[in-house]
Amino acid sequence: MVQKHAATRLHYDFRLEVAGVFRSWAVPKGPSMNPRERRLAVPVEDHTLGWGNVEGVIAEGEYGEGAVIVWDRGAYRCLSEPGGEPASMEESLERGLAIFGLDGEKLRGVFRLRRVGDGRDVRWLLTKLRDAEAEWEGDILVERPESVLTRRTIEEVARGAR
Ligand code: MN
Repeated sequence: MVQKHAATRLHYDFRLEVAGVFRSWAVPKGPSMNPRERRLAVPVEDHTLGWGNVEGVIAEGEYGEGAVIVWDRGAYRCLSEPGGEPASMEESLERGLAIFGLDGEKLRGVFRLRRVGDGRDVRWLLTKLRDAEAEWEGDILVERPESVLTRRTIEEVARGAR
């Protein structure tokens, strides 16, 4: 699932359910359906699965302060095959290379998360891989800004619209 989050800086929280928690990355520029785009994904702490339904305005002073919407969600399938053997998502993330298929409402097809750098400089890159779902033009963040839960935009949520 992906949340759009208007915290101090607008970003998208990309979350994959792994072993009972959401492994999470903050993606400042948001995900892209264009295989030419590599998006920085900064690993952040795991979140409980309850976060998957969080939409609204997080109060000032609370963790994650600011408006948040559920921008996309759906099933995923791990497609990593290191050495030709299918791997679990947990293993793939441990190795720093995960290839997975997304079946979201907006993000669809095969994606890759790859760890680069190390130590304090560790970061990940989120990339759409070439397939029939890839979109070489346009910007899904602009075309589909709305919540998949309520169809509200983050601006409407921030204003308190129902
Ligand atoms: Mn966030």
